[in-house]
Amino acid sequence: MTKNNIVIHHSLTPEDTEIASIRNYHVNTKGMKDIAYHILIGKQSGVWRFYHGRPMIMDGGHCPPRNKDSIGICILGDYREKPLPTEAREILFDLCLRYVVSNDMESEAITGHCDWMERTCPGKYIMKEIPLLIQEIGETRPLRIH
Ligand SMILES: [Zn+2]
Repeated sequence: MTKNNIVIHHSLTPEDTEIASIRNYHVNTKGMKDIAYHILIGKQSGVWRFYHGRPMIMDGGHCPPRNKDSIGICILGDYREKPLPTEAREILFDLCLRYVVSNDMESEAITGHCDWMERTCPGKYIMKEIPLLIQEIGETRPLRIH
């Protein structure tokens, strides 16, 4: 199914959590086919970057109401009480812009896990960023022609 929205999560684990350990937990403890998210943003050796989780062609395993039609992005860390670092925010912006354009999504299709389910995920500090991302991406993206 076409992925026509983005669901953002946080991990509640340290920002430098190894991607392999998240995959191991999702596959071997939770019994999923692969890591739940399509993309992860984390910090290794002091540098923020993004990582591929499960292949984009697979349904997500991160948000049951939206698993079939969303791209799941998880930012490592806990953003309930702490702002999103600038470097992580820049990577999140670039990825959201890329997927909004490549999948011809509405900018408003950028959402948080708690928009769909009774959760605190992705934390209030990421939720505060989402309307700003929507606005900035709406202003940055090429004009849509239909
Ligand atoms: Zn979540």
